Amino acid sequence: MSFSLEISDKITSARTGILTTGRGQIETPVFMPIGTYGAVKTLSPAELKTAGASVILGNTYHLYLRPGLEVIRAASGLHDFMAWDGPILTDSGGFQVFSLAKLRRISCEGVVFTSGLDGSEHEMTPERAMEIQLILGSDIMMAFDECPPGDASVSEVEKAVERTSRWAEQCARFLKGDEHFDPERRHFFPIIQGGVNESLRKRSTEELIPFVKSGVAVGGLAVGEEKEAMFDTLGLMDGLLPEDKARYLMGVGKPADLVRAVASGMDMFDCVIPTRNARNGQTFTWNGRINLRNQRFKEDLAPLDESCTCYACHTFSRAYLHHLFNLNEMLGLRMATLHNITFYLALMEKIRAEIRASTFDSWSRDFMERYGGAS
Ligand SMILES: [Zn+2]
Repeated sequence: MSFSLEISDKITSARTGILTTGRGQIETPVFMPIGTYGAVKTLSPAELKTAGASVILGNTYHLYLRPGLEVIRAASGLHDFMAWDGPILTDSGGFQVFSLAKLRRISCEGVVFTSGLDGSEHEMTPERAMEIQLILGSDIMMAFDECPPGDASVSEVEKAVERTSRWAEQCARFLKGDEHFDPERRHFFPIIQGGVNESLRKRSTEELIPFVKSGVAVGGLAVGEEKEAMFDTLGLMDGLLPEDKARYLMGVGKPADLVRAVASGMDMFDCVIPTRNARNGQTFTWNGRINLRNQRFKEDLAPLDESCTCYACHTFSRAYLHHLFNLNEMLGLRMATLHNITFYLALMEKIRAEIRASTFDSWSRDFMERYGGAS
């Protein structure tokens, strides 16, 4: 199973490709809706399929704590447990362990942390992160890494780069000896760290390249750094990463950021924005953002987005959706989420079509202008 690069844009670094997994093919550039606890909030797997999702993301740390591995193992893995038969990418839990849990100890072996739920103590090591993702049945497994915050010092970022490299090697060694890891069906992506520091990014990339088989992730961005610094780093990564491997930019982003990151040669994306913002009434349309809570939609009988194919846009008016949000009706949350996910997936489909038609550059400039800084 591998990644095959299809078309490379002549003006920008945008590309299309296909990542093949044991559970189906993923056309890139791709957006992966986030199913933190084994559910993309408010949506059913059937709705995700209709919206055009080809792969979703599950969070190892959260699923490990709730419902716990025994329940998921008894259900034959996360796919059967949540009734999603397409590919699933799981993160390694590293990001959540460092950002959410109460850390006890970080060593070269791994991390000991206390669950914020019940105070129980757990140890996460590179080997354990691989074992958990195998139990979940992940199709794209992520290496256990350390992701420092955007305001971390250079020496902290350097330490994270060192640990991440050592841990990636341990992950790869564990998978090599494990009978449940079939490289014909599953992918393993190392995660490049280094913040926005050029020499640390180069070092992290050099140290991790030996473990890149079909794809690689760029981590440690969209964690509070300046946006231009993020895009400068993406430009650097574009020149450093092998062209024939899938490139996953973790945790990005808003519509215009996705388009710009595609232009910088990135292929895979995940972000909570379309689902989280939907629950606040904020929706994305081809002409910009619309907040359904805004009074100006009280009597607006037009659909949310005339060119959108989702059920919400085909069925309801802005006035009705505004009314639902006004009264905190759950249908409003569901419809806004369904719309935003459909929009994000349609945006990626549009991006792929524009790359194939050699019109991505002019289209992307127009799109980014429309979305502007208010993306
Ligand atoms: Zn819609």
